[in-house]
Amino acid sequence: AVSSGSPASATAALAPVEPLLPVVGGTTTVPLVDGTQRVYANLDYAASAPALQAVADRVTEVLPLYASVHRGAGYLSQVSTALYESARQTIARFVDAREDDVAVVTRNTTDALNLLAGVIPAGGRVLVLDLEHHANLLPWLRTSDRHAHGHRTTILPIAATVAATLESLAAELAANPYALVTVSGASNVTGEALPVERVVEIAHAAGARVAVDGAQLVPHRGFSLAATGADYVAFSGHKTYAPFGAGALVGRRDWLDSGTPYLAGGGAVRDVRADRTVWQPAPARHEAGSPNVVGAIALAEACDALAALPAGALAAHESALRSRLVEGLEQVPGVQVVRIWPDADEPVGVVTFTVADHNPGLVAAYLAAEHGIGVRDGRFCAHPLLSRLGASEGAIRASVGVGTPSEAVDRLVGALHAYVADGP
Ligand code: PLP
Repeated sequence: AVSSGSPASATAALAPVEPLLPVVGGTTTVPLVDGTQRVYANLDYAASAPALQAVADRVTEVLPLYASVHRGAGYLSQVSTALYESARQTIARFVDAREDDVAVVTRNTTDALNLLAGVIPAGGRVLVLDLEHHANLLPWLRTSDRHAHGHRTTILPIAATVAATLESLAAELAANPYALVTVSGASNVTGEALPVERVVEIAHAAGARVAVDGAQLVPHRGFSLAATGADYVAFSGHKTYAPFGAGALVGRRDWLDSGTPYLAGGGAVRDVRADRTVWQPAPARHEAGSPNVVGAIALAEACDALAALPAGALAAHESALRSRLVEGLEQVPGVQVVRIWPDADEPVGVVTFTVADHNPGLVAAYLAAEHGIGVRDGRFCAHPLLSRLGASEGAIRASVGVGTPSEAVDRLVGALHAYVADGP
């Protein structure tokens, strides 16, 4: 049966929340098993968010200017180079980079963190918590494996509260010298995070730098390197309302200027002889090969559109949707919302839950086939965290963003009521 929201839904009486910005595909219809069509309820923004309409318009505008950047003398090469370099500045400005910071255009957050893992000064130790997305875990473990002396990366277990986790972080940093602490800006599982400013305070006091995996934080709250004091931030265009293929690593210049690039090739070098290679300084050093010019311009457009929103608008929109969703889910028999800490600040718009005695994959398939709802199920590339939260068999994740109307949230809650009442 096609449901438009169960009367039992606790969200039915609330005033509607409209999208904050227009996105491409916001009215796309999808086929249901009963042969009808339904407007797609995209509740999977944490995986990849739809592009903003403004981004799509900008891409259409710049495509005719498409040409190879940096080394072309032709007019379009010069225009493309200027657009690319101006996009880099916009991206840096969006995360409030300091004057000396450098912005490297990467493929995504995974690429950015792998890059950073490759430029840590020799012997530098890295501290990472066990709640991280694999993108902020595996690059550090891999460089650790390669390190001749071993023990380069330490995985610190989180504690039961934010306060206790910060204490444990401080104790570990006091006991051992670290070059870098790398933390999630917001968990892709629960939307929660440690307060970045506190992590920076603790780490800097112990002489360690801080990198922030901003994949979930930057698009949903914005981020300031200058205000938080964090040394690096990484984020992805496809989660920031731009298309796939462009992301960024922004932060302190020295490691990026001196580390050997993990991607070698044209554009990254100043001089190549048979017996030596002289690399360019950053960012060129880490952008070998023809860069994703259109991707960078698209990401910059998304950054500008988000930055133009009134202060607090992003957080307020998401907060309204998130609390509506959590309140609705709490009314569905057998549904359990997963949280890491009782004392965390308000999470970004990511809510993970389980349905007692029901396989998450089957629930997600039912939501798609019968209600046109897109959620994610599984272990969300965060296996250690899911195990720790007692959900090693997986869970279901609903996530929202600027293009989400409250109708999508209400539809999910109604569909879950129908599912637990009647079965698939
Ligand atoms: N970090 C977090 C917290 C994420 O949620 C994700 C993606 O889901 C990533 C890193 C990796 O992002 P990407 O796949 O764009 O590299």
